[in-house]
Amino acid sequence: MCGIVGIYGIQEAVRYTLLGLHALQHRGQEGVGVAWVDGDKIHTEKSLGLVSDFARKIKYPRESQIAVGHIRYSTSGKADIMNIQPVVINGFEIKTAICHNGNFVNFFSLRKSLEENGAVFTTDMDTEVLAHLIMGAKGDFLTRLLFALGKVKGAYSLVIMTPDSLYGIRDPFGFRPLCLGRIKNAYVIASETCALDVIGAEFIREIEPGEIVKISKDGIESEKIKKQNPQQKRECIFELIYFARPDSIVFQKQVWEVRKELGRMLAKEHPCEDADIVTPVPDSGLFAAMGYAEESKIPFFYALTRSHYIGRTFIEPSSSERKEEVRLKLNPIKGVVQGKKIVLVDDSIVRGTTSRKIVKMLKDAGAKEVHMRISSPPIKFPCYYGIDTPSKGELIASSHSIEEIKNFIGCDSLGYLSVEGMLKAVENSLGNEPGKLEKPSFCTACFTGDYPIPPEDSEFIMQLRLFRDF
Ligand code: AMP
Repeated sequence: MCGIVGIYGIQEAVRYTLLGLHALQHRGQEGVGVAWVDGDKIHTEKSLGLVSDFARKIKYPRESQIAVGHIRYSTSGKADIMNIQPVVINGFEIKTAICHNGNFVNFFSLRKSLEENGAVFTTDMDTEVLAHLIMGAKGDFLTRLLFALGKVKGAYSLVIMTPDSLYGIRDPFGFRPLCLGRIKNAYVIASETCALDVIGAEFIREIEPGEIVKISKDGIESEKIKKQNPQQKRECIFELIYFARPDSIVFQKQVWEVRKELGRMLAKEHPCEDADIVTPVPDSGLFAAMGYAEESKIPFFYALTRSHYIGRTFIEPSSSERKEEVRLKLNPIKGVVQGKKIVLVDDSIVRGTTSRKIVKMLKDAGAKEVHMRISSPPIKFPCYYGIDTPSKGELIASSHSIEEIKNFIGCDSLGYLSVEGMLKAVENSLGNEPGKLEKPSFCTACFTGDYPIPPEDSEFIMQLRLFRDF
């Protein structure tokens, strides 16, 4: 997963971009990059690691009024400085910097045909095909962009800058979020509204699926990506369940509220008689546990302390790095758990390894019983649209029954929210502007296998696995 930010029309655009990226750090911790205009070129700075370290190191001009930035967690391409965005072109005709959140599912076939026609790729990133398609097209920048977007398939939220404009784009399905905000006379485009909050920008609206927003000295213009079916919106439900920050508004919903509603529904579907406390896996299960506790009238209590000096367990790309981190990150509060029957709430189970360790920690600390409740359905299918679950073999629910998963995790009972319950809970949550909500339409492929774009490009899936370090 990745996070993207673009700013147009304010002094210190680079600093604002860095602030926005910092708020989006949960979307990727592997690397960070920013770009701005320097004379007649686009200048870029990139680094592996976190935004806060990067921001301390780099020097940037105060006067730049357009900037874009990206934080990366690789779902395509190796974890390497070469693969950090923005992808920058400084050609005679085209100067641009591109930041992408998502995956182009037809990347390998596009790259092959571009290479056959002489294109030279300098990274492993799927995003680079877009750069080559723009360079190879004719006309002004927007015409070229429309041509390039007509060729790529898959999930893409993009911020793109040229020396005089900023573009924000969402693919026709709208898999990944992207929002528009304003600060004084300037505009901000970012993956989530929490980035607007940190900058002090006011939230205007989300970029619509299939929309291209162009910001320039002429103000804001909006275009549609061609050949779009207006019915095809399929926003990623997992953003609401897990990925986005709870203080963000995503897909017209307040993320925290959706999570609480999922927890309430979970309590209805999987009650736990006579439990002493409901406790979350911090931080991912927090709001669902609150909802569960409210609905079930079982007291909510914090039983696991979390170290904030370590990132999301999963977010490191190699599984060996992941293994030891649970213990560094979480520790049970013995006095709270001893002798208790506990409902442990988390948002999802992927491999089952984290949950297994947490259950063991709680039992070692004296918990009498641990009943695990998951505020989403079993994840059975890999995501090809930007979430890090590429291989089916790794997903415990793809090959194990609920009883087998329960035994693997070592909990006393296990209950997952149903697909229907999940959709109902999301609908129940009020959203940002009650009354203004359109009927949501979500991508649930990781739970149902119903892929909005058939994964016909099997080469993409193969390569995705080869690139990764599982
Ligand atoms: P596990 O028990 O090993 O399956 O890990 C489950 C934990 O991983 C839960 O706390 C989830 O919040 C978290 N998680 C689920 N999906 C992802 C993802 N794509 N990236 C990072 N963390 C995730």
